[in-house]
Amino acid sequence: MITFYPGPSKVYPQVAQYAQEAVNSGIVSQNHRSPAFVKLSKETISVFKEKLEIPANYWVFYASSATECWEIIAQSLVQKQSHHIYNGAFGQKWAAYTHKLGIHVQEYVFDVNEGLNVEQLSIAQETELIAITHNETSNGTALTNTQMAKLRQKYAEQLIAVDATSSLGGVYLDFAQADVWYASVQKCLGLPSGMAIMVCSPRAVERARMLDARNHYNSLAFMIEKMEDWQTTYTPNILNIYLLNRIMQQVPSIKTIDEITQKRLANYLQFLEKETDLILLCDKPEARSATVLTIKGSLNRIAHIKAEAQKQNIILGNGYGTWKDTTFRVANFPAITDNEIALLQDFLRGLK
Ligand SMILES: *Cc1c(COP(=O)(O)O)cnc(C)c1O
Repeated sequence: MITFYPGPSKVYPQVAQYAQEAVNSGIVSQNHRSPAFVKLSKETISVFKEKLEIPANYWVFYASSATECWEIIAQSLVQKQSHHIYNGAFGQKWAAYTHKLGIHVQEYVFDVNEGLNVEQLSIAQETELIAITHNETSNGTALTNTQMAKLRQKYAEQLIAVDATSSLGGVYLDFAQADVWYASVQKCLGLPSGMAIMVCSPRAVERARMLDARNHYNSLAFMIEKMEDWQTTYTPNILNIYLLNRIMQQVPSIKTIDEITQKRLANYLQFLEKETDLILLCDKPEARSATVLTIKGSLNRIAHIKAEAQKQNIILGNGYGTWKDTTFRVANFPAITDNEIALLQDFLRGLK
């Protein structure tokens, strides 16, 4: 079986060996306040920051999922008002969760094919936090580092929080351009599901300390207190922290991974255009995701392609939300090999 599902997605094959190592070494049975855990956690955060080029003064936290990060942000960094910018299902869900937690949510919804025009945004001064989805997994669109920088420049006062769940670890992100970035590990990081990583600027940490919200076990103020000793407020996913550590040691630096991801994207685009009649949902090249390709077609055609793929033991990502039956998705994540991509292209070529 080979899988192109954009989450949970293919894990690095080395995960099997590293998991064995984690059990044999005894780390997964160690107390999460023990010196052994503290050492693992500290080293993991250090190698994670190094490989992803995260600014030295940024903090890294562990959480259970990207979904949990939506709640942590709403509960710990906003008192009254947030502004959500999105064009798809994940951005919309984030806004909905925040609203349910009693925050006054304003929204700016943009079109998949128009892309985001930062100049057109008009965000109220009293907005405390801008929530934006870097890579919209539901429709295969993404923002550029330039757009993120423009947003930062235009809204210097507000905290900017970014859902980078399906891009962090797959493309280069300019972390300095926002205050909170988070991702669950089962996408570009090529690990088993059940953990998320949240990256925070000193300004976000300062705000959390100032608001001092403490009603939840993962209130950021508590998380900060614990992270001062490289610890967590709850028993964390020690196995996944160990795996993250080992995978981060193994992978090249993010600029090298970014180059590979972009090259593979260019190859996919050329392949689709020259050798198939398939087209991407997003027709604006600069608005397309490099890590999640979303291919559209008629209901019958998409159903046929998915069924044929399954017969050949190739798992394609189902469409999501509005695009459930009229698209399929292909993850372009680092753990996927060139050989697997060649097999997928052989399959798609043969469809004609
Ligand atoms: C997958 C995904 C999520 C949800 O991740 P969980 O680990 O299920 O919480 C949130 N946002 C985006 C953009 C995603 O791709």
